[in-house]
Amino acid sequence: MSESTPSTPSTRVRLRDALDAVPAYVAGRPAVAQAGTTAYKVSSNENPYPPLPSVLDVVREQAGQINRYPDMGVTVLTEALAERLDVPAARIATGPGSVGVLGQIITAFCDPGDEVVFAWRSFEAYPILVALSGATAVKVPLTSEARHDLDAMADAVTERTKVVLVCTPNNPTGPSVRRDELEAFLDRVPQDVLVVLDEAYLEFVTSQDAPDALAIHRARPNVAVLRTFSKAYGLAGLRVGYAVAHEPVAEALRKAAIPFGVNSLAQVAAVASLEAFDELDVRVKELVAERARVLAALAEQGWDVPDTDANFVWLPVGERTPDLVAACEAAGLTVRPYGTDGVRVTIAEPEANDRLLAVTAAFPHGRLHPKG
Ligand SMILES: *Cc1c(COP(=O)(O)O)cnc(C)c1O
Repeated sequence: MSESTPSTPSTRVRLRDALDAVPAYVAGRPAVAQAGTTAYKVSSNENPYPPLPSVLDVVREQAGQINRYPDMGVTVLTEALAERLDVPAARIATGPGSVGVLGQIITAFCDPGDEVVFAWRSFEAYPILVALSGATAVKVPLTSEARHDLDAMADAVTERTKVVLVCTPNNPTGPSVRRDELEAFLDRVPQDVLVVLDEAYLEFVTSQDAPDALAIHRARPNVAVLRTFSKAYGLAGLRVGYAVAHEPVAEALRKAAIPFGVNSLAQVAAVASLEAFDELDVRVKELVAERARVLAALAEQGWDVPDTDANFVWLPVGERTPDLVAACEAAGLTVRPYGTDGVRVTIAEPEANDRLLAVTAAFPHGRLHPKG
């Protein structure tokens, strides 16, 4: 065979140098079932509940028209969001997941040589999107409590900073930023720098001192809010998210969008999910209750983990990360390791959470301190 196959000449196309700086996205792996047991994928912070029947109905109906392009203006969803959030529709920009919207933000703001400041560790997509643009990622280490160090982030802002990303609650460690520290931070950031509050896990937040991002956005023209239907709303597979930003920014984000990026199934499912919010909220509250149960049990077992406001928990086991991953896997749990920093585990069905607690009870965890 091989001797008759003509060899392909090596390519001479010229790729951008910026690609060399792009880290690979490490996605949560699929669950691997052990013989005789259910496996749980608790590596991607997905909603464990199946889609609501009312949402599936509109998706099924819309599926009969997938020979047509979606509404490029995403009109119905944009209007529904404007009404629900009480903001003008002109302040909303949608995209294929909030990662897609964040890509639009970076495209709209960043040239090579510009800087984007964010905490680290934080969301894996940040360094990828920044590197793709050719801009420079300025990573500011988390505090010893695995929280944003907003003072250090303000110190890191330079003349070249175009955007600052604040992930609240922070993925993968869990804490929200506090209202007072965020206001103090925003007072220090120059007015010509866009600050993005990434609230992918907003619906799970229960801390009393968490910020009201929309109110902050209303008061500050350089603040945008980023949200998604992927987590609490359970639409991760359909890809839809949005930003709320002041008009010139929102308009720029719509310009920077890939045409027809939000597909027709995602549009109708998101609208139906907004309408079914009360039903979804019951599920969110159950997950929040499970989170409280898991945190209490971990504390009881002697674990020192950050206070999480999201649908996941951070286990800062350092060098023992691969061992904890293996122990989880043996218990039928696919979790998300972060190098030799720790492991992030999604709060899921009670059975999956019970298995996690059985693993953590048996795992050596003396004198651990959260670390980012
Ligand atoms: C999951 C997540 C998102 C949302 O991703 P989608 O593209 O909307 O699925 C955004 N930000 C953070 C921090 C996340 O963890």
